[in-house]
Amino acid sequence: DEITIATLGSHTSLHILKGAKLEGFSTAVITVKGRDIPYKRFKVADKYIYIDNFADISKEEIQEKLREMNAIIVPHGSFIAYCGLDNVENNFRVPMFGNRKILRWEAERDLEGKLLRESGLRLPKKYNNPDEIDGPVMVKFPGARGGKGYFVCSSKEEFDAKVKQLKERSILADEDVEKAHIEEYVVGTNFCIHYFYSPLKDEVELMGMDRRYECNIDGLVRIPAKDQLEMDINASYVITGNIPVVIRESLLPQVFEMGDKLVNKAKEIVPPGMLGPFCLQSLCNENLELVVFEMSARIDGGTNSFMNGSAYSFLYHGEPLSMGQRIAREIRMALELDMVDKIIS
Ligand code: ATP
Repeated sequence: DEITIATLGSHTSLHILKGAKLEGFSTAVITVKGRDIPYKRFKVADKYIYIDNFADISKEEIQEKLREMNAIIVPHGSFIAYCGLDNVENNFRVPMFGNRKILRWEAERDLEGKLLRESGLRLPKKYNNPDEIDGPVMVKFPGARGGKGYFVCSSKEEFDAKVKQLKERSILADEDVEKAHIEEYVVGTNFCIHYFYSPLKDEVELMGMDRRYECNIDGLVRIPAKDQLEMDINASYVITGNIPVVIRESLLPQVFEMGDKLVNKAKEIVPPGMLGPFCLQSLCNENLELVVFEMSARIDGGTNSFMNGSAYSFLYHGEPLSMGQRIAREIRMALELDMVDKIIS
C-alpha cells in the first residue's frame, strides 16, 4: 500500500515534506487555519489534516486519520513539544521514524548530560551551586524557553544581582532559580553539527552544519562596547534563524569521531539507539576542541539552513540533499529491503 510521510506543519516540515515528495512518497501536513500558507505556497503537501490548535495533535481522531493514510510520522522539535513527550512515548500509535524512546534523553538535562558524557564528548564544566563560580559562566533555566532569562556572569555577587533583576522583571520565578543550571561559558565559535545515522548501512553521515542567529545577542554585539555599557540591556539567546557554515578541514576527524561515539553509546544505553537525524550543538574553543553544550536526538531546526543541500551532503551524496530527503530515502530503502522495522518505532 502507498505510504504517506506526515508531520506537523512547523519547525522543519517544509523540507521533510519536500524531500518525501522527491523520493516519490505521498505527503500530509497537520496544520491549523492560518498556518497552512507556507505549505500551500510551496506546494509540499498532498493532503492537509486540520486541527483547531497545535495541542490537538495527540487526539485519537487525528491518529486514526494518519493510520488510514498508512502514515509514517517524522517527529521534529515542535511535533514533540505539542504532542507531549508522554504521549509520544505511550499514546501516539502511529509508526514514527526513528527511536521514540531516545527523545527523552534530549529533553531532560540530566539524561542528556549522561549520554553525552558517557559517549566521551567534551562538555562545558558544570557548577553545582553559585558559590563555586570562579570564572565566566552561562546560567540556564528549565523548560523550553528559547534561551529567555539565560545570562552570563563571573561571580556569586553578579549571579545574585542578575537573578534579582530578572525576578523583578518577572522573567524568572523562585522555582526557576532553584533549578538554575550553571556551566562554564565557552568562548568560541558555534557549530551545530547535523548527522544522520543510517541503521540500514550502519554508518554515520555528516549532513551539514549551521550556526545560530539569536536575538538579542546577535544584535547586541553590533553595538560598540562603550554604548552597550550605557544601554544596560540584558542579553538573551532566543533563536530566530540559522546560518550555514563549514568547519576548517582539519577539525573533521574530530567531528566524525564525535558522531560515531554518540551513536555507539546510544545503541547501548537506549537501544536500538540514535536512528536517523541528530545534532550536536558545539562551541569550538581556541584550543580547537569542540565542546558540546546541547544535543537534538531528532531532526534539528538548523537543518533548514541546507534545504537545497550543504557542502557536506553534496560531498557525501554527490547531489544537493536535504535532511528531509535523506530521511525519506532511508524509508524508501527500508521498504525496498523489507526492513521497515529497523527504522521506525
Ligand atoms: P534550544 O532551543 O537550542 O534547545 P536552549 O534554550 O536549550 O535552546 P541552549 O541551546 O542551551 O538554550 O543555549 C542557547 C544559546 O546560548 C546557544 O545557542 C549559545 O549561543 C549559547 N550558549 C549555550 N551554552 C553556552 C556555553 N556553555 N558557553 C557559551 N555559550 C553558550
